[in-house]
Amino acid sequence: MMDKLLDIIFPPKCPFCKRILETSVPICRDCFSSLPFTDENTCSICGRPIGEFSHSVCALCRSNKINFKHSFVPLIYKENARDTLLALKSGNHPYYAKAFAYLIADKILSSEEFVPFDYITYVPQSRKSRFNRGYNQSELIAKELSRILNVECIETLYRTNDGKKQATLNAAQRRENVKKCYFPLDKKFSGTVLLTDDVYTTGSTANHCSMLLKGMGFDRVYLAIAEITDD
Ligand SMILES: [Zn+2]
Ligand SMILES: [Zn+2]
Repeated sequence: MMDKLLDIIFPPKCPFCKRILETSVPICRDCFSSLPFTDENTCSICGRPIGEFSHSVCALCRSNKINFKHSFVPLIYKENARDTLLALKSGNHPYYAKAFAYLIADKILSSEEFVPFDYITYVPQSRKSRFNRGYNQSELIAKELSRILNVECIETLYRTNDGKKQATLNAAQRRENVKKCYFPLDKKFSGTVLLTDDVYTTGSTANHCSMLLKGMGFDRVYLAIAEITDD
């Protein structure tokens, strides 16, 4: 009831172009056909766009031990896709998570790599960041995905306030830094889990968290990421 009332007072808008949405789909038709999608010629592991004549696996995935099976990532981190993701991360637009979850679910359901997942989880944030932002955007995306795919969303990992902000570090420093930030909760699982995050740059965070999830007993980890950098 409250939701319906709010929809009349503040009609939902497409987060990418800000036009009022005419259906319950959280993104408009124009943006759905014009956003910078990761389509063909992508790395078969992380989903990053690679050149037409390159290997099927990108240089980063070839040179590192990868702990996840496959990453479902619909968008390239650029143009209005990047601006909208940054707006979600700013702490003022939690509802934008719906559109990203919708695009990830579309990617998953149309992929040959799709398998039934037993659980969905998310990259955690520190208490400090939670306090500043008011929400964890990866958790919001995971909860929307959980609703769309009808798979239970669970808490598996936590993040301490130690370590530095990943964005300030190079690839080697990021790999070291994540070891100081992310830890598993004292729980045991099995089966297949889908790990959600907002953006994949070098992949250090998602890859380290995948390793921790395997340590908790999961047999296979898949990634659901809103956007990936293309350089
Ligand atoms: Zn739009
Ligand atoms: Zn790759």
